[in-house]
Amino acid sequence: MELREVKGLNEMNCQICSSKALVHVTSLGHHALPDAFLAPRQATEPFTVYPLDLYICNQCWLAQIGYSVDPSLLFTDFVYTTESNPASRPHFERLVKSFIERFELGRGDLAVDLASNDGTLLEQYGNAVELLGVDPSSAARIAIEKGLPTIVEFFTEGTARQILATRQPAKIITTMNAFAHIKELDAFMGGVLALLAKTGVFISESHHLQNVIVKMQYDLIHHEHLRFYSLRPLMVLFDRYGLEIFDVEETETQGGSIVVYAARKGAYPVSANVARVLEQETAAGLYSAATYETWARRLIQSKQRLMSLLYELKAKGARIAGIGASAKGNTIINYCGIRPDILDYITEGAELKLGKLAPGSLIPVVADQELLERQPEYALILTSNLKDIVIRRLREKGYKGEFIVPGDVPSIE
Ligand SMILES: [Zn+2]
Repeated sequence: MELREVKGLNEMNCQICSSKALVHVTSLGHHALPDAFLAPRQATEPFTVYPLDLYICNQCWLAQIGYSVDPSLLFTDFVYTTESNPASRPHFERLVKSFIERFELGRGDLAVDLASNDGTLLEQYGNAVELLGVDPSSAARIAIEKGLPTIVEFFTEGTARQILATRQPAKIITTMNAFAHIKELDAFMGGVLALLAKTGVFISESHHLQNVIVKMQYDLIHHEHLRFYSLRPLMVLFDRYGLEIFDVEETETQGGSIVVYAARKGAYPVSANVARVLEQETAAGLYSAATYETWARRLIQSKQRLMSLLYELKAKGARIAGIGASAKGNTIINYCGIRPDILDYITEGAELKLGKLAPGSLIPVVADQELLERQPEYALILTSNLKDIVIRRLREKGYKGEFIVPGDVPSIE
């Protein structure tokens, strides 16, 4: 197989370095928007699908998807809330405590969270600092109801100027698991730079490309994630704004993320963690085109193995349920071509999705409880990043069937 070099073939540029030297890694087909769950009456109507292709930049090694959907279609009726992920609160609690200690934050310092969602991160500061959230989605209403000051819009340099009209520059700016969502990256970074105090710190947490590649986490690829970060492309991006990465921390979020600490050049000593993670990424092959060629082949194999297993079980008359109606799960379902003839239904805890149909596949979404009542022989885990928590919880509640976990080779647990 040869990777197709798209240089010069279209107008697509690297979202970070603007290079046209993009290599097409693979196509996952056309997908419906991953969080656009449908009302049952829409099952008889046409729906829109968007191309989902993965590219790698030959210059800065950013991995990105090819087609950027209009963010107002993706995020204004966003159904995801931070609180819905049980791992978020303890994780943010630990991080915020470390920010307060390490950067000696105190009363009067401003901490801004961009894409603050329901305010779960901001809440962890308590009264230690002045707080402000910025978020364009409907989740911002939840934060406002909690009494957390939140500006409801997409963050740009204009937002930064508006904040600075009444407040001091920010000592800490965070954006957790949203930095890969931002379409207008330059407008966003311009805003960060304008808002950041002289010795302020910009902290972002993003899923780590290394895990997409090494652990075959292809379910992270959907239209809300425009980019998959490793350190090199982030260094190129920050450098353009006079910022440098002075520390990086690996976390378990989303099955393996990096928390990246950036500040104005020279403001903080650069930790040895930066060189260590860069070395690790190089050893994992992230900065070599051959890695992506092999990965594309592994991806096809993983689909083939999962579908062979599901077809075999279904042909024997097994009942199979899906667990977790998430954007990631919809990538697995739509990439593999799983439809209601294979998966009877998907169980889900979030009220907003119940009674709806999964986008693209039209598989019905039902309450978690149904799995325990119907006891299907198999349960396909569709949120691989939460697999251990989900399996433990469902076993405790009394599910007796077997779990199927997708991956390079699907496992039965
Ligand atoms: Zn690039």
